[in-house]
Amino acid sequence: MSQIKVNLEEIRRRINAAVKRCGRDPGEVKLIAVGKTKPVELIREAYEAGQKVFGENYVQELKQKAEALAEGDVEWHFIGHLQRNKVKYVVPIIKCIHSLDSIRLVEEIEKRADRKIDCLIEVNLGDEESKTGIEKENVYKLIEALKSMKFLNLKGLMTIPPYDPHPEKSRPYFKQLAKLMVEINNKKVYPFKLTELSMGMTEDFEIAIEEGATMVRVGTAIFGERKLGTGTN
Ligand SMILES: *Cc1c(COP(=O)(O)O)cnc(C)c1O
Repeated sequence: MSQIKVNLEEIRRRINAAVKRCGRDPGEVKLIAVGKTKPVELIREAYEAGQKVFGENYVQELKQKAEALAEGDVEWHFIGHLQRNKVKYVVPIIKCIHSLDSIRLVEEIEKRADRKIDCLIEVNLGDEESKTGIEKENVYKLIEALKSMKFLNLKGLMTIPPYDPHPEKSRPYFKQLAKLMVEINNKKVYPFKLTELSMGMTEDFEIAIEEGATMVRVGTAIFGERKLGTGTN
């Protein structure tokens, strides 16, 4: 059996165990296999082991992989920082973008889209330490802009906690993100209820599930360690 298949089965087992532990439904958590810097052969191996949802961070890589793995049931998610001049390459491929962080980006995606695209706002809850995502205070302004978009469907929120060797340190950030989504829903600032929380990676996805994650983005535990400094946008 391929190592990727073994890894995937182990991750699915751990996801199911975490889901059960907190009395949630297994169908509530989607596993996104993050293949950044990894060759498409490994992505294909995962696909053949039944994984259909993939996350990529880099536009060039996403394009190449989507061309090489063009089966109709593959679902691509863009999870990295997206520059506006690259939006046109990403839009035709993706089902969902996790990293909305500015009104200008939203407008550019809307301009390029010709079908519905799911999206999440990436919220920076880590202050100085993490440089990606939008500050909590500006989330409502972004939602306001999203209300008039025809193609962009806001589904929920995403966050990446500041790196810490102790996964438990991520928990307060996951709690904050879940709380923010409840607050947004209670205030009814968007015409549809937000339901998705994209949070949790290799080190902390079980904690994220305990705090309400509906999408976990797992790379290393499936595809192995990445070399430092690889990957280009
Ligand atoms: C790389 C990456 C992941 C996966 O990280 P691992 O620790 O390898 O599981 C998840 N989300 C984002 C945004 C990433 O850039």
